[in-house]
Amino acid sequence: MSQLPPCPKCGSEYSYEMGELLVCPECAHEWNPNDQSDSEQTREIKDASGNVLVDGDDVTIVKDMKVKGSSNTLKVGTKVRNIRLVAGPGDHDIEAKVDGFGAMNLKSSIVRKVSGN
Ligand SMILES: [Zn+2]
Repeated sequence: MSQLPPCPKCGSEYSYEMGELLVCPECAHEWNPNDQSDSEQTREIKDASGNVLVDGDDVTIVKDMKVKGSSNTLKVGTKVRNIRLVAGPGDHDIEAKVDGFGAMNLKSSIVRKVSGN
């Protein structure tokens, strides 16, 4: 018999099958082990205007954002170069170095791709 994969959320090895789904008894997470690789492959990250973003794109900030651990606010119009797409915490799906802030995670919903590069 094949062993069930561990919980993708908390890493528990005590997951069990419930129909099509796997269930974690420790954090109550339910997931479909067959769906996962598919959705990973077709996952597209889009900016505020619906343009598909790729690694290396330049974007601008379209919404003021308070930066955790800083008294500064990331302002509308700030240019962010050479983004990387990541599976960050929450819905933070972009990682980039921002002038004056350093490396940080951003949400694709608050950026717009700079066209013409
Ligand atoms: Zn779990």
